[in-house]
Amino acid sequence: MYRSVNREDEVDDQDHHRLKERVFAAIWDELAPLEAAIEDDESLPYEKMWPVLERVGAFGFLVPREYGGHGLSIRQYLPIIAEFAKIQGAIRVLVHVHNSFAHALSELADEDQRRTLLPGLARGENSIAFALTEPERGTGADLGTTARRHGDEYVLDGRKWLITNSDIASHFLVLAKTSEAEVSSILVERDRPGLTIESLPETMGCKGGQHGELTFHGVRVPVRNRVGEEGQGQANLERALEISRVFIAASSLGTGQRAFELSLRHARQRVTFGKPIAQRQAIQRYLAEMAMDLQALRLMLEDCAVKWDAGQRIPAEASLCKLFGLEAVGRVTDRALLVHGGIGYTRKHPIERLYRDARLNWLEEGTPTIQHLVAAREFLDGHWWSDDFSGVRP
Ligand SMILES: Cc1cc2nc3c(=O)[nH]c(=O)nc-3n(C[C@H](O)[C@H](O)[C@H](O)COP(=O)(O)OP(=O)(O)OC[C@H]3O[C@@H](n4cnc5c(N)ncnc54)[C@H](O)[C@@H]3O)c2cc1C
Repeated sequence: MYRSVNREDEVDDQDHHRLKERVFAAIWDELAPLEAAIEDDESLPYEKMWPVLERVGAFGFLVPREYGGHGLSIRQYLPIIAEFAKIQGAIRVLVHVHNSFAHALSELADEDQRRTLLPGLARGENSIAFALTEPERGTGADLGTTARRHGDEYVLDGRKWLITNSDIASHFLVLAKTSEAEVSSILVERDRPGLTIESLPETMGCKGGQHGELTFHGVRVPVRNRVGEEGQGQANLERALEISRVFIAASSLGTGQRAFELSLRHARQRVTFGKPIAQRQAIQRYLAEMAMDLQALRLMLEDCAVKWDAGQRIPAEASLCKLFGLEAVGRVTDRALLVHGGIGYTRKHPIERLYRDARLNWLEEGTPTIQHLVAAREFLDGHWWSDDFSGVRP
């Protein structure tokens, strides 16, 4: 049923290296300078960002080449999303959600849907958002939104909220109940009558992004908009979130790495009692602990990427990686603030922004509790664990 679409051999190392150079240059030369204005205005300057992202192909990192994307493997994509996470958080979130769910469509959609949707997504002419969370229900399969079948149409009713890119998405991948016991994933175009989209208040960090509320009131879509079989929505959701959790962990790595680099620089430059604070053992300990977290996270990410690219499912590894990532970036940004002292707490200082931006990683693709549950389910059911160092499934 699933198609693994991104193979490392499709994009050779030199192509990947050149792409990374182009993207990193765009991130630092053209997107990073927008940070201050985004934080002040609490809105994203799409007219400035979009052409930059389009030019480097940032909307098609994970779309296979045959549909117009770069066709990167997961291992090739992780350093790129990590680099985006070093600059203003809402830019990273926008790129993450678009690529994550374009990737999910590449894997889960049928050939007609791929041909219709993926080229436009890869070019950035269309954008896809993911609509799971609801105001009156819980995480995952606890859904109140329904999609009832009437002939060759579904009629959707319900509410979703906190839906990232709700201001720009042309399509929403909506999780809805198609019967009391079954969940299906259904694509809903933005302009369908009966769909209303409202803004929610601004967020603590990753400022400028829109995470809106969707209300479906008798929204009709053709049955061909369903992605995968009827009732397969829960399986689709688990697969899409599994790899998306690894992308969040890579974002934690990028944010943490930037906080670490800034802390190193500050520790070398800041002089107290006649010596740079980098010469104090207390500061060296902070820096070493930060480096330890980042190095461990890097290795967990590598493990997830290699396994996924080899076609392996990684529910436990992905949840543990996302969980470790959010805890690691939490500790790293805490310590970065301590290394910087009071100046790091002031607005306009990058540490203050990185600290706030990192806190979204707790929530995206499920809270820590949900990661505990998913990982524990895997090893309690005997599906995952290994007492050697490889962690490979028997
Ligand atoms: C900026 C932002 C962007 C987002 N983007 C999207 C998006 O694009 N699409 C989307 O669908 N969602 C999105 N979300 C929603 C996000 O995924 C959820 O907020 C998150 O998964 C937590 O769900 P909740 O808010 O319903 O919290 P709740 O489910 O109400 O959880 C509250 C607390 O209770 C705990 N809890 C809840 N249920 C259980 C349980 N059964 N067992 C044990 N503990 C439990 C949770 O772990 C948490 O600690 C976004 C959120 C934010 C803040």
